[in-house]
Amino acid sequence: MAQNTNVNKAEELTNQIKLRISAITSTAEYMLWIYPIKSLCYDGKQLCLTATSDHAANTLTANYTDLFLKVIDELDLPVESVLFISEKEAEKIRSIEQPKSPVEGFVEKKNPFVSKYTFDNYVVGSSNRMAVVTAHTVAENPGLNDGLLSLNPFYIYGGVGLGKTHLLHAIGNYLFEHRPELNVIYVSADRLSNEYFSSLNKYNSDKDSYRNFYHKYAACDVLMVDDVQFLQKKGGLQEVFFHIFNDLYQNGKQIILSSDRPPKEINDLEERLRTRFLWGMTTDIDLPEYETRINIIMKKLEGSSAKISQDIICYLAEKVNTNIRELEGALLKVLMYTQLTHKEATLDVAKEALKEHTKDTVEQIDSDKIISTVSEYFHIPSSDIIGKKKNKEIVEARMVAVYLICEMLNLPLVTIGQIFGGRDHTTIMYSRDKISNIIATDKEMKTTIEDIKSSLKCR
Ligand code: ADP
Ligand code: MG
Repeated sequence: MAQNTNVNKAEELTNQIKLRISAITSTAEYMLWIYPIKSLCYDGKQLCLTATSDHAANTLTANYTDLFLKVIDELDLPVESVLFISEKEAEKIRSIEQPKSPVEGFVEKKNPFVSKYTFDNYVVGSSNRMAVVTAHTVAENPGLNDGLLSLNPFYIYGGVGLGKTHLLHAIGNYLFEHRPELNVIYVSADRLSNEYFSSLNKYNSDKDSYRNFYHKYAACDVLMVDDVQFLQKKGGLQEVFFHIFNDLYQNGKQIILSSDRPPKEINDLEERLRTRFLWGMTTDIDLPEYETRINIIMKKLEGSSAKISQDIICYLAEKVNTNIRELEGALLKVLMYTQLTHKEATLDVAKEALKEHTKDTVEQIDSDKIISTVSEYFHIPSSDIIGKKKNKEIVEARMVAVYLICEMLNLPLVTIGQIFGGRDHTTIMYSRDKISNIIATDKEMKTTIEDIKSSLKCR
């Protein structure tokens, strides 16, 4: 009974304080920090309040305690001190008070990382040794900064298909196993930007949307952002990311970034982010040399029943020297071929299976070729595809061309923007995403894209 009275009193006091603060702070500040606060308990002197996360609780303690005490004083409330703790902490306290049955209370955490992308499955060679060693060290000591050695942020860069995403997931898998208490988030820059903009769009109907977005990232223990070259400058995204970065960094949380190029080569990056990206450790991943390519094939064959002779392995390693994703694709083709034809995998079979592949790489597809193929397909002149006209048909063809170039060529968005008459890279990103969304639900568009792709390959 006494406890209930305390809980009610705590709520009453908290409501009075929040109401007063709402009158003297900006709406944005109030919505972000004060509104989500809930009362926990009151012992006649101290008022204990909960915040949505550890991060929020820390911020409130550091920046808002004085304001609370001032308001308490003005309202002449019987409170001597305030204490902010996170909901999670509060939950722990509650569960100690009323122990739940283990089955009910126990929620198994799901591993969000790709299970085959582990350190064990990652072949080390001179092309990636530094990156792997650093990734290991970061996984073992997230947030390490002892004054001499800072691995925060850890920035990995290298061309497409060279194993950046695999390495990030390897760190994630390691932490999931060894440090399950940590909140580790992997997100691509594209996804981060979508979440950010959709949180802003939802703001009118859901005042918590932006705050939830911000806290999700600013309050984690390890944040991995893949392909940061896609962090767009428009719409305040880089500014928000700057604040998230600072919050994490100041709290000793680990930040891990990947990109297809070093920070200084990302054109569209705010200077203050560029400098921050260079604060910790930067390593690159190179094209793997022949030896490593052999080892990668062997690794991929581990545990498989397929019989692939040594000369085939050497043949593949020799032929496919572009990147590891293609090497995997080529190996898969050989395996499929032998399975479908029931032929034994001989060197000739491998050559046969790779015919397509060698053709692709010999006959380079470039943006001109894509644009002219799209032009033929839609019966619209190339000049209109890259031009400014806004008819529905032309816009559609243009977006398809943009999508194909984004997908088939490894070009920076800015460059693609230039190809399309100096359009902004966000416009390019918009077209790319729009078509990929349409493809997800619309069979007709999917077929269009496939048709254009196959006619490109026959040219
Ligand atoms: P990126 O993110 O750099 O474009 P990914 O991490 O997606 O490249 O790698 C492409 C493919 O190559 C993945 O299937 C990955 O498992 C494989 N791969 C890349 N590097 C290695 C490596 N060192 N050892 C084994 N597999 C690798
Ligand atoms: Mg990747």
